[in-house]
Amino acid sequence: MKELIHELFVKGVPTHKIASEVGIKHNALKMRISRYRKADPRNWKYRNDYPQRTIASKMKVYECEDCCLTFAIETAFKDHADACCPICWSNDQMRFVGDSQINIKI
Ligand SMILES: [Zn+2]
Repeated sequence: MKELIHELFVKGVPTHKIASEVGIKHNALKMRISRYRKADPRNWKYRNDYPQRTIASKMKVYECEDCCLTFAIETAFKDHADACCPICWSNDQMRFVGDSQINIKI
């Protein structure tokens, strides 16, 4: 398995795809690569140039004034009228702050 992981790693395949290819969980793959790198740093160089994918998610930002908590809920979630503060589970002091977007690099 190490050879296949290395082959895909050197090609620049994103780690989540390597994990899926070899049939292990993403975190397990990253731990393996870290272990391989410690043992043999020259063959497991850090990759900065492999293509990164970004997931963009539109969010509505709310604030619970009781808890002084700002939190966001995906716009795609349809039942914003039923939304509540994740700390006090109330929406009595919850107000809409504005629209935002988060970009997650994977
Ligand atoms: Zn609250």
